[in-house]
Amino acid sequence: MVGRDVSALPRPDAALPDDGTAHWAVLVRFGEVALKKGHRQLFMGVLRRNIERALVGLPVERVAIRPNRCFVWLADAAAWPAVRERLGNVFGIVGYALCLRVPPTLEAARQAYHALVGGPPASFAVRAHRGDKTFPLTSQEIERELGAYIKEATGSRVDLTQPELTFYVEVQPEGMFCTTEQVAGPGGLPVGTGGNVVSLLSGGIDSPVASYRMLKRGCRVTFVHFTSYPFTDASSWDKCRALVGILTRHQFESKLYAVRLGEVQRRIVVAVPAQYRILMYRRMMLRIAEAIARREGCKALVTGESLGQVGSQTLDNLVAVQEATRLPVLRPLIGMDKQEIIAEARRIGTYDISIEPDMDCCQYLVPPRVATTSTPERLRGLESSLDVPALVDLALSETEVEEFRWP
Ligand code: ATP
Ligand code: MG
Repeated sequence: MVGRDVSALPRPDAALPDDGTAHWAVLVRFGEVALKKGHRQLFMGVLRRNIERALVGLPVERVAIRPNRCFVWLADAAAWPAVRERLGNVFGIVGYALCLRVPPTLEAARQAYHALVGGPPASFAVRAHRGDKTFPLTSQEIERELGAYIKEATGSRVDLTQPELTFYVEVQPEGMFCTTEQVAGPGGLPVGTGGNVVSLLSGGIDSPVASYRMLKRGCRVTFVHFTSYPFTDASSWDKCRALVGILTRHQFESKLYAVRLGEVQRRIVVAVPAQYRILMYRRMMLRIAEAIARREGCKALVTGESLGQVGSQTLDNLVAVQEATRLPVLRPLIGMDKQEIIAEARRIGTYDISIEPDMDCCQYLVPPRVATTSTPERLRGLESSLDVPALVDLALSETEVEEFRWP
């Protein structure tokens, strides 16, 4: 965030045009969306719907979308802090600002300056953007004219490199949008444009970050958690509920499938040497997740695996485990260091939940040492004494689904 806070209403003494043309609007900029030529209409439609959903219940008059901008017309500028926070979750948005929309004249922009800014700043800059090319002045001319005026009116110094205050003016067919603050958006692509995936959510640090990354690329995510409850406590399941609550801010509604894996694990334990147990659990997880994916119309599975992070995530093991499913397994964190993942978890707000102690099902009946080299053939051989389809069905019958909504 740069510039001054303009969350305050215009000063009562500000001489706004009294013809009713001044209006508060949030000007939203989007990036990649605009580049997707063939799908532009679709992307913009989804982005607009997502913005509307994010702002549900707030005093918004209308959300209007144009080829390069979106306008959120506010019925009440006092809603800005809430609007600012909610829009921060909408992928596809590159930046946004609360603007005072005035008629497209320099005089109106001068009045808007006084309405938005209290006392004179030590230094300032004007940044203009002419989005409406029919406006008679170029961006540079607008900056020069308004800069000269503000300097004269306030005695403030012009500083184009590190101004204390930046006065932004954007000319659009809808009028002149003036502000002193630009908020950075989350970027990415609008959720709903990237297809549906199932994410395996453990309650640990990595899988929420992996899920976030898929949401950020526009995917709708259905969550699946495997728990050994009631053989263990339900702490990892509770953590997953809290994590899904946070991640749902980006897609407005989520489903969390909680699969009780304990009985399947006990069957594996009696059939398979100890150091292979965790790999067998994982193969079962992928199969069960695949069944859920087919039910939910999802085309891929997502995990928080990162190459070599732990013994079960060597390349050999990833390959040997993945063979259990025909769906692609997407691993957005595959090349990341743990420290990088932790930093991202902190940034997206999942870290504090993830580090709460829990009893994850992968700790249930697992020896300290895991086989670091396995092959699909070896694991398939070990499974031959198990009735795999029956175990998948058993686990699916021990599954609960919970729905989450935001806001
Ligand atoms: P995380 O921090 O996501 O738990 P991790 O570093 O602990 O990852 P593993 O425990 O080996 O790594 O798990 C690797 C991936 O397998 C997880 O990121 C997750 O996608 C999936 N996974 C593991 N355990 C579970 C579980 N109980 N429920 C759902 N998915 C799981
Ligand atoms: Mg884990």
